[in-house]
Amino acid sequence: MRYWVETLGCPKNHVDSDKLSGLLGGQGYVPADSAEEADLVVVNTCAFIESAREESIETVLEMADRKLDGARLVVTGCMAERYRDELADALPEVDLVAGFGESLTTSTPVTLGQRPKSDFDLLNLPRPAATAPWAYLKIAEGCDRRCGFCAIPTFRGDQRSRSTEDLLTETRGLVASGVKELVLIAQDLASWGNDRRRHALGEAVEVLDEGGTQPLVELTRQLTGEVERLRLLYLYPSGLTTSLIETILATGVPYFDLSLQHVSRPHVRRMKRWGDGDRFLERIDAIRRAEPNAAFRSSFILGYPGETEDDHSQLLEFVEAAQLDWAGFFPYSAETGTTAASMADQIPMALAMERLREVSELQDAITARKRDDLVGTTQRLLVDEPGIARSVRECPEIDGVILVDDQIPVGSMVDCLIVGSQGTDLEAKLA
Ligand code: SF4
Repeated sequence: MRYWVETLGCPKNHVDSDKLSGLLGGQGYVPADSAEEADLVVVNTCAFIESAREESIETVLEMADRKLDGARLVVTGCMAERYRDELADALPEVDLVAGFGESLTTSTPVTLGQRPKSDFDLLNLPRPAATAPWAYLKIAEGCDRRCGFCAIPTFRGDQRSRSTEDLLTETRGLVASGVKELVLIAQDLASWGNDRRRHALGEAVEVLDEGGTQPLVELTRQLTGEVERLRLLYLYPSGLTTSLIETILATGVPYFDLSLQHVSRPHVRRMKRWGDGDRFLERIDAIRRAEPNAAFRSSFILGYPGETEDDHSQLLEFVEAAQLDWAGFFPYSAETGTTAASMADQIPMALAMERLREVSELQDAITARKRDDLVGTTQRLLVDEPGIARSVRECPEIDGVILVDDQIPVGSMVDCLIVGSQGTDLEAKLA
């Protein structure tokens, strides 16, 4: 029997798909070359915002058209978990809607309103050998925070961190299959391990500590020796302690993906989040003082309820002052089950989009300047695929890339001179 997995959404979903592939492989399935040749077609959906949900539905319908007559079509992932009954009802083309941890191959039809028990834990499933010289490593699932705009905790649940032993085992397996760069992901990466520590101590433990006892610090130190490059994504700003900064710098990958969302203090509080622009700039300056070549990425939401002109001006000033290498801007989308969905002062989408365009233009110019500044420097590159490489400054699948000679073997680490820039991408020649 052959299977095909079509994946939408964020890196966390891609790791889930890898694990589902590993599970299907263990059940005797082999990967098909295309959806048209598979006996089992799985769509791993995303439910992040309205546009992601629309894309997920379109993909399910497209797969229904493309699959073989008689092949089984299964929908899983965040949308399946969140809208199980509605999906089963609205999509008669689908044979099974399977939430997290539910079998994709069971022949039991879905009964509306009934929640099947978990058959497996995706987090701890083995995954197949890597197909690229880099891989995501999902270190926790769920989130203990309750940001006003985010529905993830309502369907992914509270944080569950994987154990250090599991993570070391998975890391070693990935490195043995050729992985040179590991990208750590979780909903709230900097809080990794706090749930385990709380359970062990039987009490709430303050997340913010400066004494080097933040669990992620210890994990990062342990993983650093296992793989050539270690990159950390999705750092909630209050978790960016001095010891974590020092530990990240010691990995040799001075890349900081700060999950900021906004900078105006009253607006950040409306979002039920920590911090403000001044604190964020202070952290960024401290990192640059320690490592002038540090690279920064962040993401921001435009048009969250209550956002004033003054809040927006503060964001523009911050973006100008911070000079981030990369930033993503997203329009607010009201999500069922969140506090923001029922807040007064909803912002019209047209205004949110106007603000988004303004701040994106500003950031695009900053990103282009930062890319130009790299011309003439020598960077150590990891070749991801023929002709495509990255330095420590580019995260896979999110940032720009570096174009190199397509004869340089995939998986090699080479020193290259940056000779040109084209938008977000750079061109390099062997040094
Ligand atoms: S920290 Fe991230 S995943 Fe957790 S509630 Fe906030 S936005 Fe959602």
